[in-house]
Amino acid sequence: MPLSFNHIFDAAFTLLAPQDCAVCGGNVSRLADGVVCGGCWTAYRTFRETFYLACDRCGRWRLTPTGIDGTPHRLPNCDQCADAPFERARSCGPYRDGLRRALLALKRRPTVPEPLRELVFETWRAVPELHAAEIVVPVPLAGRRRRERGYNQTECLAGIIAEASGAPLVTEALARVVETRPHRAGMDDRAREQSLENAFQTIRPRLVAGKRVLLVDDVFTSGATVRIATTALLVAGAAGVSVFTAGRTLRDGG
Ligand SMILES: [Zn+2]
Ligand SMILES: [Zn+2]
Repeated sequence: MPLSFNHIFDAAFTLLAPQDCAVCGGNVSRLADGVVCGGCWTAYRTFRETFYLACDRCGRWRLTPTGIDGTPHRLPNCDQCADAPFERARSCGPYRDGLRRALLALKRRPTVPEPLRELVFETWRAVPELHAAEIVVPVPLAGRRRRERGYNQTECLAGIIAEASGAPLVTEALARVVETRPHRAGMDDRAREQSLENAFQTIRPRLVAGKRVLLVDDVFTSGATVRIATTALLVAGAAGVSVFTAGRTLRDGG
């Protein structure tokens, strides 16, 4: 294989700024892989193949053997999303291993590693229902947190879909007026949802009125954040909201 600029660049990178993989501790040999080595990205993809979307509506992942013909099934609807305000939700895969590490790193540096970019693009491409969106809206950070971080990591992910779909990235539609800590221990789903009520305001409703929206967040945990944000968009007149998150936590053994 001829040496390309990238190979030379990566060789220099491993020599000058060696980095340990955030999952296995081995060497990250490509700058484009971010904080996770190529082997761990491959392992994540392989692991992800053992899952299928249990719910066609909310996209809840379940660890399940593949069907008798060896292909993954989809079940129609789970019993947990009947009252969800969004039309559907999808994620690239379970929030763990390489994906989790890459998303945590994205909060420290606004660069999306190539394997994560590919996962986002492939997942979006595989769900034709998501392609009807007319605008792509990232879940915003509250003003103070955004100022501290200097950017919103969710915008980095939403930008990939906006670019692929040609739908504009709209960052000024929704504002987060209350910063909460949604992962506080001991909080159940209902308490989380209550703590988030009124957390979002549509500051420019005309940007979403009558539009089909794809709402993007980094992780779907209880779903409280995207439910509340979806409701705010619908109140502002959005014609419909679908949700895309990079990761999704595994719950209830599923
Ligand atoms: Zn690794
Ligand atoms: Zn469901």
